[in-house]
Amino acid sequence: MNYQTNRRANLLRTLKADGVDALLVTAPANVFYLTGFTGSSGALVLTAKHAILVSDARYEEQIKEECPDLDAHIRPLTKTAAEATAEVLTKTGAKTAGVEAGHVTLAVLEGLKEKCPKATFTGLGERVEALRALKDPSEVEQIRVAVGVAERAFKMFVAMIRETDTEKELADELEHFIRRAGGKRSAFAPIVAVGDRGALPHAPPTDRPVIDGSKILVDWGADVGYRSDLTRTLKSPFASAPFRKTKQERVGYNFDLVYAAVKAAHEAAVAELRAGVKAKDVDAAARKALAKNTHKGEDLSGYFTHGLGHGIGLDTHEGPFLRPNTEAMLEAGNVVTIEPGVYIAGWGGVRLEDDYLITKEGAIRLTTLPHDPAAIG
Ligand code: ZN
Ligand code: ZN
Repeated sequence: MNYQTNRRANLLRTLKADGVDALLVTAPANVFYLTGFTGSSGALVLTAKHAILVSDARYEEQIKEECPDLDAHIRPLTKTAAEATAEVLTKTGAKTAGVEAGHVTLAVLEGLKEKCPKATFTGLGERVEALRALKDPSEVEQIRVAVGVAERAFKMFVAMIRETDTEKELADELEHFIRRAGGKRSAFAPIVAVGDRGALPHAPPTDRPVIDGSKILVDWGADVGYRSDLTRTLKSPFASAPFRKTKQERVGYNFDLVYAAVKAAHEAAVAELRAGVKAKDVDAAARKALAKNTHKGEDLSGYFTHGLGHGIGLDTHEGPFLRPNTEAMLEAGNVVTIEPGVYIAGWGGVRLEDDYLITKEGAIRLTTLPHDPAAIG
């Protein structure tokens, strides 16, 4: 039994509990997870007896290559994707069908109802995503590959930074290095934030040159099918002139002190990571560690304005999410980021992000890049 067959069998068990005869899977990452098909046009009709991939003639050969054991329905040019899917669904004899509520549009759902008047449709939550949160060994290996690509790209990137480079130029270079290091593409548009721009957790790159700041926050990842997601905050090697700092970073915080606090928060969170722990408790451990650090009488945890981390896999952000407002429990096989940060307007930000595999005993760090910015390069 291959991985995809196993996953479909696991999904069918949850559908039984949902009381539906069929599930229509249309989110591309979910279709890939269940079939191995990487094309952009595909819907999987899954019942206890059928697994049929509905696609079009552009993908006929690709489906034979990528999923030789799967039944495929190649729609003729005269039929729309919705019409073909509705026909296949009718042929399975399903009376009740679940659709992915977070992915199917109202227009598609209305179309299906019209073309399958005898079936009832019900929106289901993240059934496939729940399975995807638990990685099998082949998936962990793919994430390791994505981490390796991102790390090689970053080393090339750090070696070529010049003081006249802008955030935009550096972000473009980093994307290029990710491809050169073996990635299909960047997992997401890289963040390169110079000086006080690091105070925006998701800063879009601008024409700000490296010399206009004393630090650089870089958040990047590779996509090799599965993805990686890392952040490092570097001291700029070019910001020796103090006037630069006062011009672009008006507020005076000590980089080393803030960095040490973020690193301590990261380590405190990792010490809590293991199967059976509540995600919100890991988030709380990072905030508690940050709160021990005061700067000018202020508790730094007030500057940590986002969740501690998220699952990573076929998507950059997937379950489980580590944040205060969740009852999610971590399980062996989850792969998550840990990414505490401190963001101070007028000064900048420090974030330290790595990827971890959760096990019964603790967590295995998949990232190998040193934490210490001075040790990279
Ligand atoms: Zn990131
Ligand atoms: Zn992240």
